[in-house]
Amino acid sequence: MKLTRRRFLGAGAACAVAALPGCGPSESSAPPEPLVGDPLETLRVRGYRGLVELPWFELDARGRLVTTAELPPGVDFHAHLGFSFFLAPGIDYNAAGSAPHYSFDCDADAECVLDLDVYMNHFTTERMQSALTSELVRTFLIGSAAGRTHTIPNLLAEMDDNSVERAVLLPLAPGFPFRDNLAERWLDAVAHCDAPERLVVFGSVHPADDAAPAKLRALADRGARGVKLHPTMQRVRPDDPRTMELYEVCRERELIVFFHAGRAGVEPAFMQPYARMAHYRAPVAEFPDVRFVFGHAGARDIDEAIPVARGRTNVWMEAHGQGVRDIRRLLGAVGPERVLFGTDWPLFPQAASLAKLLIATRDDSSVRDRVFRENARELLSG
Ligand SMILES: [Zn+2]
Repeated sequence: MKLTRRRFLGAGAACAVAALPGCGPSESSAPPEPLVGDPLETLRVRGYRGLVELPWFELDARGRLVTTAELPPGVDFHAHLGFSFFLAPGIDYNAAGSAPHYSFDCDADAECVLDLDVYMNHFTTERMQSALTSELVRTFLIGSAAGRTHTIPNLLAEMDDNSVERAVLLPLAPGFPFRDNLAERWLDAVAHCDAPERLVVFGSVHPADDAAPAKLRALADRGARGVKLHPTMQRVRPDDPRTMELYEVCRERELIVFFHAGRAGVEPAFMQPYARMAHYRAPVAEFPDVRFVFGHAGARDIDEAIPVARGRTNVWMEAHGQGVRDIRRLLGAVGPERVLFGTDWPLFPQAASLAKLLIATRDDSSVRDRVFRENARELLSG
């Protein structure tokens, strides 16, 4: 492996002399002052740009993180485009515009220390949390300014920077009375983009919608490869009879089920019981020929998620959000062949998740390649 420690290609200077695209407020300056201690030991860096302290990243002329690790072309199994629902205006997903504004922007807050060993939403500051809340409200009322940067060109550019060949796009159907058709809009956008072969679109339907099975079949007809279900945001349990009916469609159409699994800890209290891991047992047991992915590997309920997944050949754990030690624990508990790499872009930069995987697998490149590439390729080809 090529070890490049703290390489910096003069991004600050480049931005100072030319108004380069991508030199926005949170990305124009030089790398931040390093924190005390070896980041491979402390697992803490200052902001996302502090990842240049690790041996596998540098900042390019645009001030953007780029990996220097020798990696096979990987698959990001957990990504999104911009969200806009209900009254919010649509987003031009193929527009070339300014650099992506991450929903959790650790570089925009001088107080933000990126802790690679805690669950992902734990490192965020209060200022970041309140900025996210106001952006979320905008996604269904007036439209989110950040969301307009969550475009296909920005995603593809970041994939190139992080050795990611393909990304799985996960829409969401929260259950609004109209314009609850994000999956159709993303399928349209991908069909008209420069590299449709690099983006794998899943569908999403709301289990309480009587038309959900028919809508899911229609999405499969249009090329959706799976369905994203979010028990907390949709307020329906994964073992609710209406949700169970959807797994019949998944079996019939060979669709992969991607769950938001477990509690993230930041959702309103009334939503949390829907995602308790006990509710995922019946689906994976009663549909052994349907392939299920537990997004975030159970999030903060990872300890409850592992026994549900362990020993099941129809369950994969997508590790976004977990810290370095929990990723290692997950690999030991369910086996490297059952773990998938995901980033939750554009909530976070892809480099943040890649850094954790690189650290967690630094002694075993075969495990790294399985998680970064092979498992996802097999799952998507099956
Ligand atoms: Zn996500």
